[in-house]
Formats: sequence, structure tokens, C-alpha cells
Amino acid sequence: MHRVTLIPGDGIGPEVSAAACRILNATGVKLDWEEVEAEPVTDRRGDRLLHAGWLDSIRRTRVALKGPMATPVAEGHRSLNVALRQALELYANLRPVRNLPGLKTRFDGVDVVIVRENTEDLYAGLEHTVVPGVVEGLKIVTERASTRIARFAFQYARANHRRTVCAIHKANIMKLSDGLFLNCVRRVAGEFPEINYQELIVDNACMQLVMKPEQFDLLLLQNLYGDIVSDLCAGLVGGLGVVPAANLGSEHAVFEAVHGTAPDIAGKNVANPTALALSGAMLLDHLGEAAAAQAVRQAIHALYREGRHLTSDVGGSASTTEFTDAVVAAVEAAASRRQVGA
Ligand code: ATP
Repeated sequence: MHRVTLIPGDGIGPEVSAAACRILNATGVKLDWEEVEAEPVTDRRGDRLLHAGWLDSIRRTRVALKGPMATPVAEGHRSLNVALRQALELYANLRPVRNLPGLKTRFDGVDVVIVRENTEDLYAGLEHTVVPGVVEGLKIVTERASTRIARFAFQYARANHRRTVCAIHKANIMKLSDGLFLNCVRRVAGEFPEINYQELIVDNACMQLVMKPEQFDLLLLQNLYGDIVSDLCAGLVGGLGVVPAANLGSEHAVFEAVHGTAPDIAGKNVANPTALALSGAMLLDHLGEAAAAQAVRQAIHALYREGRHLTSDVGGSASTTEFTDAVVAAVEAAASRRQVGA
């Protein structure tokens, strides 16, 4: 039995996390979901805070499946998604971006892994008004965090047969901050002679990605560039509805999709749960349940290959429930075939 914290989140979060849980449960792996309280906790000013209970739960279970949490734009509280990553030192954001079989997009052969630093950069949340009309936002880059994420990227590449790590930066302009990041990555690259190492300036990387994405293998980025390039890469393979992710630290792991709360489609039973279900497959791998993880991927891939029961963001007309029912049926059928064969 594996205990797993479940944070349903806001917007489409509750719909896609309920779907992902059903799909993971269908594998037959015994998962004991510890669902956290959803009611927002606020401070005296009414700003929303991270639930202490969420952190306690993840510290206990060490692993969570999480829906997105809403962040007000240009006002209000800090992102709770970012606060959670920082509080648990989930320093590595891992986002595999691949074409799904049968899902037609403008590009074939996209198979790129994004490794994004998750704890610092402009996401440190340090902004202040110097004088009215002048605001300063601080970009924090440390040798410790840059070296740590670089080592994660190269170790991941070595363990997962990735041949080339490409560091993305803007060190021609931010010579000190991005320069420090790059110098740390270069030092770590020297420890992995069997892995090719390249560097690209972020604007050029974006152009290359939308012209020849198949040339990329593993991208290593700081926090902000990683966020932007992730959405760009999601667009190459069918959109935010299909790209999974993991936030990994040395103690804990939180699996969540790349997408946000998508308020435009929340509560309509049309959101695509593929991204969170595939994040759930990464969670199963993390728990050592590789066969179950593979069963989830195969069931989803089969539906995409056949083009049946797909949601509207990927060209179908199925509801969230219809898609989920079809994946659950395929996963259950595979699980009973495994039992018969055993
Ligand atoms: P954030 O800034 O919170 O990370 P975002 O920029 O990633 O959010 P989203 O809220 O995820 O933006 O969504 C952008 C658009 O993508 C939505 O308006 C929605 O139409 C689409 N989208 C996102 N996730 C899904 C999904 N799971 N299924 C279908 N469409 C989605």
C-alpha cells in the first residue's frame, strides 16, 4: 500500500485530479489517497496562504498528486504552486514533452525533456516599490541551486539515455546572474564526458524550437525561461492538456501537469485529464510501480492512436468523464490480462 497526498487544486483541478485518481486506481496498485482540505486559508488581509496541513501530509507521505492552484494576476497573494515547491525544496521540475501517437500536430518526432530550476530566479518573489512609479524585482541565482539542477539534468540524461544537454540562458545580457548559472552548468558538464553539452540563448532557442523541435533532447533552464519554454513546447505536441510533469526534491515529489487552472473551461466536464494522468504515471514510476505506469501510458496512447474518446482540445468531442471511462476500461482490461497471464 502506498500513501499518496492528493491536492485537487482549483479551476479544472478537481475534475482532472478525480479522473487521474480513477485511472491510477484502475491499475490495481494499492494507493491510499490522503486528500487534503480544499478550503482556502487566508491571513488577516484576506490573502490566501499555503495550508500547513498540506505540507504536513506531503512530509508524511513524501509523494503527492496535485492539481493547479489559482494565482491572481498583478495583485494579491503569491503563487501557492511556487510556495509549495519552495517550502519542500522541490528543486527540479521535470517535464517530458513528446508527440502522442496518432495526435496530428505540425511537428513529428518531438521528444524533449525539460529540466527547470524550481526554487529561485525571478520566482523568489522579491519585488518592491523603490519610489512611486519605480519597482525593483530581484533575480536570485545561486551557485548551490544552479549546480544542483545541473547535476540533476546530467544524471537524468545519463540514467535515461539522453545524449545531449542544452543549457538555455541570456548570459549575453544578464552576465552576472545567467553567467553564474552557465558557469555552474559548464563545471558539471565536465563530469559527464559521455553526454554532449550545448548552450543556446533563450530567444534563439525559442525560434529553433518552433522550426526544428526534433533536434532537441534535454533542455536545462532557469525558473522563468523554463516556465515559458514549457508552454511553448506543450504547443508543439497538442497543447497544455497533454504534457505531464514532476517536481522533485531530495525528500519529496509532487506530480502535477504543466497546465494551470484553465478557468475558461472549469466545471464544464471538458478538460483533458491526459496531462495529469500521465503525471500520475510518472508518480507510479517514482513509487517503483513501473508495470502499472506503463499500463496507464499504453491505455492513453491506444486512445490517441485510435482517435476515439478524445476531448475537444485535441480535436475530439468527448467529455472528461467519457475519456476517463475509456482509459479506466483499457487499464482494467490490461490489469486482468496480466493477472490471467501470471
Ligand atoms: P498558469 O499561468 O496558471 O500556469 P497557464 O498559462 O499554464 O496557467 P492555463 O490556465 O493552464 O494557462 O490554460 C491556458 C489555456 O489552455 C486554457 O485557457 C485552456 O483553454 C487550455 N488548457 C489548459 N489545460 C487544459 C486541459 N487540461 N484541457 C483542456 N484545455 C486546457
